[in-house]
Amino acid sequence: MKIFYSDAHVLHHPKAELHRGQMIDPHEGPHRMDLLLPGMKRAGFKNFLSPPVFDETSLQGVHTSDYIDFIKTAWERWDAAGYAGDVLPMSYPHSKRREKPPTDIDGAAGYFASSSDTVITKTSWEALKAVAACSLAAANAVSDGANSAFALIRPPGHHAGADYMSGYCILNNSAIAAQALRKNGAGRVAILDVDFHHGNGTQDIFYERDDVLFTSIHGHPDDHFPYFWGHKDETGAGAGQGFTVNYPLPAGTAYAPWSAALRNALQHISRFKADVLVVSLGVDTFEHDPISSFKLKTTDYPLYGAIIAQLGLPTVFIMEGGYGVPKVGDNVAGVLTGFLNA
Ligand SMILES: [Zn+2]
Repeated sequence: MKIFYSDAHVLHHPKAELHRGQMIDPHEGPHRMDLLLPGMKRAGFKNFLSPPVFDETSLQGVHTSDYIDFIKTAWERWDAAGYAGDVLPMSYPHSKRREKPPTDIDGAAGYFASSSDTVITKTSWEALKAVAACSLAAANAVSDGANSAFALIRPPGHHAGADYMSGYCILNNSAIAAQALRKNGAGRVAILDVDFHHGNGTQDIFYERDDVLFTSIHGHPDDHFPYFWGHKDETGAGAGQGFTVNYPLPAGTAYAPWSAALRNALQHISRFKADVLVVSLGVDTFEHDPISSFKLKTTDYPLYGAIIAQLGLPTVFIMEGGYGVPKVGDNVAGVLTGFLNA
C-alpha cells in the first residue's frame, strides 16, 4: 500500500481550542502525528512517500474560489486588523446569509465557518496544501492501478464544506480525493465515512450529485457534533436524491451494532456499482477517545478493515479523526492491515 505523508502538517499548529466554554489545549494538533506514526511503524509500515507539489486545480468542484481566497489571506488580514492570536471568528450568520462576506476579517471568518473549534494560523495554508497533496497523490496512485493507497495526514477534512471550515477541518481531503478519482476517469465513486462524527462537509459537497455516493456511520447528531447534519432522513437532493445514506447511532455503540451498520452501508455501495472507494478513516470510534462515545476496541479495527476489503474495490484511505491516546496509531494500522490481509 502506498502511503503519502508530509512533515509540513506541523505548519498548521493551533494554539488553543474553544471547547464547552473554556480555551483548552487543542485536541487536534501536530502532536497527533506523534500518536499515529509510531503505531504505523509498530505494525510494519515504513515507506512514507512525499507527495508532488499540490495542484490547486484539484480544488475545483470541491471548494469555492471565494473560500480558497479567504483561507489564503485570512491570517494576513487578521494580523493587519490588529487582532490577536490565530483567526478564530466570533460572529456567525444565522438563518439568512448574505451573498457576500463582510469586509471585516472577523465577520468574514464567521461567514466562512460553522464552528469555533477551527482556526487559521500564519502558516496554515502551507500545511493544508501539503496535506491535500497527500490526498491527491493517494487518489492518483489508485487511478494509476494501485489496489489501495493511504493519505496519512492531519488536520482532518470531512467537516469542511464547499465554503466553510468546521470541526478542525479546512480543506476536505476525502472530497478532493473523490473529485480527483472522477476526473481521472472513474464513473462512480463511493465514500464510506467511518469517523465517529458525521462527515457533514463531504455530504454537503456531493449532496446534489448522483456520481458520488456518500455513506456515514456516526454518533447521533442529537448529542454529538456536528449537531445539525447526519440524520437518517438526509438522503440527498435533486439528482443526488438517494445518494446520501446516514447511520446515526446512539452513544455507547459497540462493535456488533456498529459493524451491522457497516455491512448495510457496504450493500448500498455494492448496489451503486462503485468503481472505486474512498474511506474517510477516523478512529475516534475507539472506546478511549476523549471527544467521542463509541466503544470499539483495538481488536475490532482489523476486523472491519477485512470487511471493507470484501467489496473488492480499489480503495483510497484518507485519515480523519482519532485523538489523545497512543492506540490511535495502532487502530489506524489495524484497519489497513485487516484490509491488506483479507
Ligand atoms: Zn471525528
